[in-house]
Amino acid sequence: MEFCDAHCHYQFAEVPYAAVEQARADGVGLAMINGSAPSDWEDVSALGRRDPRNLLSFGLHPWDVPTAPPDWAEQLRGLLLKNPAAGVGEMGLDRWVKDFDALAQEQAFRIQLALAVEFDRALTIHCVKAIGPLMDILRAADLPLRGFLLHSWNGPVELVPELARLGAYFSFSAHHLIPRKADLRVQFAAAIPRERILVETDAPALCPAPEFRVRALPPAADGTEQNHPSNLVRNNEELARTLGVSSASSAEMTARNFRRLFLGE
Ligand SMILES: [Zn+2]
Repeated sequence: MEFCDAHCHYQFAEVPYAAVEQARADGVGLAMINGSAPSDWEDVSALGRRDPRNLLSFGLHPWDVPTAPPDWAEQLRGLLLKNPAAGVGEMGLDRWVKDFDALAQEQAFRIQLALAVEFDRALTIHCVKAIGPLMDILRAADLPLRGFLLHSWNGPVELVPELARLGAYFSFSAHHLIPRKADLRVQFAAAIPRERILVETDAPALCPAPEFRVRALPPAADGTEQNHPSNLVRNNEELARTLGVSSASSAEMTARNFRRLFLGE
């Protein structure tokens, strides 16, 4: 059984590489590693050189928009040219984060969306408390032909059919294991087309509750719990339970969807 992690951040210091190697021993195969700002893009590239199963995506996360250097978009274009298989992201819109600048986020979004379209790359979108503005953009702009990922899907069920028509994939994460998020979990069983479902950790973010952990990482200095990359195995098990299928068939289905979106297979 091979598990494909649709969204993670192995480049962050909170993830020692031994944890990545442990995840590989636990069955994690391909992993889409998302850069979030120019300051971590080189670390993402280095992970790709270390193991070809570490797939690369480069983007400017909405939280990093305020501190991005003025030439970030040129840097991103250069990296995408240098890495013909790389995706674009993590990028997106976030109206939950403190002091967000909606206009600056939207400009950064449109620049990255245009790059994904120009180079036909898969796009990974983060959307928190901004589904309206996101829909406004997606309904009017050119979109990457191969599709885009709404990572850790967090939106209303009514939009699923339209988003699927626009090319969306939806990833299941530990966010969906929170009891008050049960309605989102049900969407994976009842509304989201199976050929558009992926599974992710967002490691080291989105640490699941202790009962959903396969392995643990030490907490950060401020006490924040860190999500171990091996927890993908458990997220897949929970997705399988949600869909009423075996863990093996959920792993196989999400791997197929992963390869179609990210590798164009
Ligand atoms: Zn992320």
